[in-house]
Amino acid sequence: MYDYLIVGAGLYGSVFAYEAKKRGKKCLVIDKRDHIGGNVYTEEIEGINVHKYGAHIFHTNNKKIWEYVNSFVEFNRYTNSPIANYKGEIYNLPFNMNTFNKLWGVVSPEEAQQKIEEQKKAAGITEPNNLEEQAISLVGTDIYEKLIKGYTEKQWGRSARDLPSFIIKRLPVRFTYDNNYFNDRYQGIPIGGYQAIIEKMLEGVDIQLNVDFFQRRDELTPLAKKIVYTGMVDQYFDYQYGVLEYRSLEFETTVLDTTNYQGNAVVNYTDRETPYTRIIEHKHFEFGTQDKTVVTREYPTEWKTGDEPYYPINDDKNNNMYYKYKALADYETNVIFGGRLATYKYYDMHQIIGAALEAVNKEFSKD
Ligand code: FAD
Ligand code: UDP
Repeated sequence: MYDYLIVGAGLYGSVFAYEAKKRGKKCLVIDKRDHIGGNVYTEEIEGINVHKYGAHIFHTNNKKIWEYVNSFVEFNRYTNSPIANYKGEIYNLPFNMNTFNKLWGVVSPEEAQQKIEEQKKAAGITEPNNLEEQAISLVGTDIYEKLIKGYTEKQWGRSARDLPSFIIKRLPVRFTYDNNYFNDRYQGIPIGGYQAIIEKMLEGVDIQLNVDFFQRRDELTPLAKKIVYTGMVDQYFDYQYGVLEYRSLEFETTVLDTTNYQGNAVVNYTDRETPYTRIIEHKHFEFGTQDKTVVTREYPTEWKTGDEPYYPINDDKNNNMYYKYKALADYETNVIFGGRLATYKYYDMHQIIGAALEAVNKEFSKD
């Protein structure tokens, strides 16, 4: 008999399991994949920690969360500074004075702001209503055409006019010569890979891999007093209000017999024609000096039931469906719904840890 059956060995499930174990509770963690870690999973290939589900850079403004992750492993000083390759032209990201200078030859922030203002005016946008309009009012039409439109439309598989504007608001726009992709105070990559953190969190916890909750629901449910569920919320409720949509990805990983393939961890391909959105060269996350290198191309793909759900499509239709599922979830007193899939939200790692710790506090405040 367990106190908790935790469905999903990702970051949310692992934080919950670790905290519950600390409080003397017995947990069984299951995952349908053949490894722990969920999407933060890293695997060593040629001595390089490969981010198997895409580039994962830890960043947060929250000191407590930074100290929390550092209590498991040490982090390095990696700062994400991706570059964009548009048909062979190279630009710095996020959009900053280096980008504006390369594109327009402008030198001062005032000149850059003027240029953007002119382009925004010419486009006639006052109240941005979709991603395209939002992007143009933030950075003007030139950057939109070269660095945003193609990337966004392949990433999401639809026109930028049909996408919500909040997606682009995640990216900083700066009028300083600063190529740091994030504004957060703390940033880095765990030395030894994310797997080192997850392994420590799940030390001494019972784990069963290759187990799909829905294939053994009747047998697994009675094993624990409570369930922590981090899978897809619509599946938990038998899709009774319909299927929540996602965007999926395919990762193509190759080992190359060269020490340095692209000179940067992340290179975005922002034209529409290149079928992948980015190439990750994993060794650069940890300043690796190995003889070989490992690169991963990331191809966005249509999602259908059964595929890996990576990005929720948070448009009105899907959000409204999610709210109905959430109402059902709120009624389930013996199940904690948490993590990206159960809350149908794009969450970064620090937000997932924050949400899991909040659930832990709520759950154990009665003890
Ligand atoms: P997951 O990691 O998805 O874990 C859920 C687990 O549940 C999975 O292992 C799944 O197999 C399992 N599961 C689901 N259904 C079942 C079932 N029926 N039975 C058994 N097991 C089940 N965050 C950052 O902070 N920085 C980044 O740079 C960053 N980059 C990202 C890049 C990509 C391409 C993606 C997709 C995400 C990125 N993230 C990043 C977000 C990060 O991956 C998430 O915040 C985090 O992994 C979410 O953890 P989770 O536990 O909620 O979900
Ligand atoms: N984006 C873009 N060009 C880029 C990088 C990002 O247009 O070179 C847009 C795109 O719409 C993407 C969004 O900005 O979905 C958020 O980018 P982020 O890097 O946060 O995406 P993630 O790493 O989460 O996939």
